[in-house]
Amino acid sequence: MKIETIAIHSGNHPDESTGAVVSPINLATTFERDADGSYPKGYKYSRTNNPNRASLEQCVAELEGGSCAAAFSSGSAAAMALFQALSAGDHVIVPDDMYHGIANMLRGMFAQWNLQHTFVNMQDMQALEDAFQSNTKLVLIETPSNPMMKVTDIKAISDITHNHHAIVACDNTFATPILQSPFSFGADLVFHATTKYLNGHSDVIGGIVVAKHDDDFFKRIRDIQQVGGAVPAPFDCFLTLRGIRTLAIRMNVHCANAMAVAEFLSNHSSVEKVHYPGLITHPNHALASKQMKQFGGMLSFQIKGDAARAFEVASKVKLFTRATSLGGVESLIEHRASIEGPHTTTPQNLLRLSIGLEHIDDIIADLEQALS
Ligand SMILES: *Cc1c(COP(=O)(O)O)cnc(C)c1O
Repeated sequence: MKIETIAIHSGNHPDESTGAVVSPINLATTFERDADGSYPKGYKYSRTNNPNRASLEQCVAELEGGSCAAAFSSGSAAAMALFQALSAGDHVIVPDDMYHGIANMLRGMFAQWNLQHTFVNMQDMQALEDAFQSNTKLVLIETPSNPMMKVTDIKAISDITHNHHAIVACDNTFATPILQSPFSFGADLVFHATTKYLNGHSDVIGGIVVAKHDDDFFKRIRDIQQVGGAVPAPFDCFLTLRGIRTLAIRMNVHCANAMAVAEFLSNHSSVEKVHYPGLITHPNHALASKQMKQFGGMLSFQIKGDAARAFEVASKVKLFTRATSLGGVESLIEHRASIEGPHTTTPQNLLRLSIGLEHIDDIIADLEQALS
């Protein structure tokens, strides 16, 4: 089945008792046992599993072409589960340009539990080779990366990583399964902040880990989910799945709008540099064309001038909202360095845009008046 069709139908079960076309929200925390003590419907207690979560997990697993998935209460909790599934003394390799919250997690709470990490420029295969240690168990990829929009070669990194008997987990939040299939390039795990494009309406915090194979490593992740209980509520699962129903068509418009904005900014005299993999001037454009179906709804650009000038532009937008996060129907603008904190390597004159689904003429008119 095609991915657009999976997005609409997967995980939906018309309600047997009423015939309702959309699966209901099951708020129950606990499920009835039979006289013989068994659980006839397969559900026991809502931390362990519930029908809405099962539907969401089935749908995202199918969209990614994986075999199983575990949903969490945030993208960060999903990333945490990957690290918690490792052991003290293990080593992970992560990109030097990545979602700052996950980098800070490794520097802080996981260092405390003696999980070792190395930040690597994932565009440099020799640097990656050199970073492997005998205890390296996991390599994380984030592509396109946040906020520099670097594109990483999933296949090349998966091959190198497998030679070292480690596994690859790919943060597919920016691309979504509509634009990029990390499993087809050799990744072992995919994870998402479903907070972003999958939910798509800026009203749910959530995350999910998808595994290519239901192996021992995924069983540890499932255990962390069910025993630790950082799980999404049934209503959040319902909303996220509802968002996914329109994911494929939303991504088409996000991509078309972002490409038009990238071209507009590239030709603007106040702009120093635009970071968007869809531009032929982007250093990873050829790789992006091979690895992605389209180039996504995220881009960043550097203004001619300093942080103050970047703040000035952000202060003048009217349609864009000044806010962190991404992937919703509304366009957002953000001065990234100031939210990333003291470890940031993001240029001070950089603004990140999450291009929404408004009419492209209105989006460009707003940027034009803010830049003038
Ligand atoms: C937002 C985000 C996360 C973290 O997700 P939360 O739901 O905010 O915890 C992880 N990775 C990427 C690429 C993100 O954009």
